[in-house]
Amino acid sequence: MKVRRVLSFDDVLIVPRYSELKTRKSIDISVDHPGFNSALRIPIVSAPMDSITESHMASTIDSVGGLGIIHRYNSIEEQEGLVHRCYTAGASNVGAAVGVTGDYRERAQVLAKAGANVICVDVAHGHHELMKNCLKSLREDLGDSVHIMAGNVATLEGFNDLSDWGADSIRVGIGGGSICSTRLQTGHGVPTLQSVIDCAKSDRNALLIADGGIKNSGDMVKALAAGADLLMCGSLLSGTNETPGEIIQTAGGQKNKVYRGMASREAQKSWRNAVGSIEGIATTVAAKGPVTNVLLDLSWGIKSGLSYSGASNLSEFRSTAVFVEQSPAGAKESSTHILSVN
Ligand code: IMP
Repeated sequence: MKVRRVLSFDDVLIVPRYSELKTRKSIDISVDHPGFNSALRIPIVSAPMDSITESHMASTIDSVGGLGIIHRYNSIEEQEGLVHRCYTAGASNVGAAVGVTGDYRERAQVLAKAGANVICVDVAHGHHELMKNCLKSLREDLGDSVHIMAGNVATLEGFNDLSDWGADSIRVGIGGGSICSTRLQTGHGVPTLQSVIDCAKSDRNALLIADGGIKNSGDMVKALAAGADLLMCGSLLSGTNETPGEIIQTAGGQKNKVYRGMASREAQKSWRNAVGSIEGIATTVAAKGPVTNVLLDLSWGIKSGLSYSGASNLSEFRSTAVFVEQSPAGAKESSTHILSVN
């Protein structure tokens, strides 16, 4: 058997290039697509997870120019209320997730009516016949005005199929999430950066969303260089004030919040009172304060990244960025590595 060599974020760097940009402020990182009520000013999307996106996160990320996808692990009425709260709070773009079985048709219609202009078909293995049927039904029910996001896929074939079945944007990445144990549990997956590189070869018009394993703005810049249009984040936004859930005060005085995979034992128990295949973990992370600060830091990192390639917008960046592969010694040099006598 021939085994292909594949790359993940820490295997590569982008080569700096000549620049004529005077200030990073002039760099445009906006993204537009049919179905968005207004162009996204930053290419960041919050994950449809019950410890990441409900109305507070969705309306705040919208106000900064990103997009929130309200999770589906609730009743239709509860999710409708969460969408409605954003829409009345004046959010421009509101996303909401549905599955591919059960009540998804009714749910999608209720959510669209409540003000969601992005419906996200959210399943672990999106390159599936159920997805094909689901996308066909949702297009029939919702028409063309609603933006349909779908995923996840790891391959170009998956990306093209979901696009041909009607998806406007596609989540790319299987098994790379920080709280994900899919690769350990099933042996399946592809490093997220490689999936982005592969899917970016598509001649379809769907937006490509890099999803899973984005650890910092450097990974965001690499995903954008590889061909991603948007970046979906769980871990990077976890622990912020706008995530659902209370702050947990530890005995040592530390403030934490829960962050959990939707296929973790804990999440499955709470949303369906049963446990199937466990493909995620639940953990706590340090409380991080307002998400706006996190998003602004990430946006500055992205703009700074484009400036090192001399690119004034995302499409220019994609067409000019050059990757190099780094050795383990290079990767060590790439992280902070001040000499210590200990
Ligand atoms: P992170 O940004 O690296 O934390 O990854 C977040 C992504 O992990 C989400 O957008 C989902 O695609 C994925 N994900 C969420 N829950 C689970 C799970 O329980 N198992 C596997 N992947 C998950």
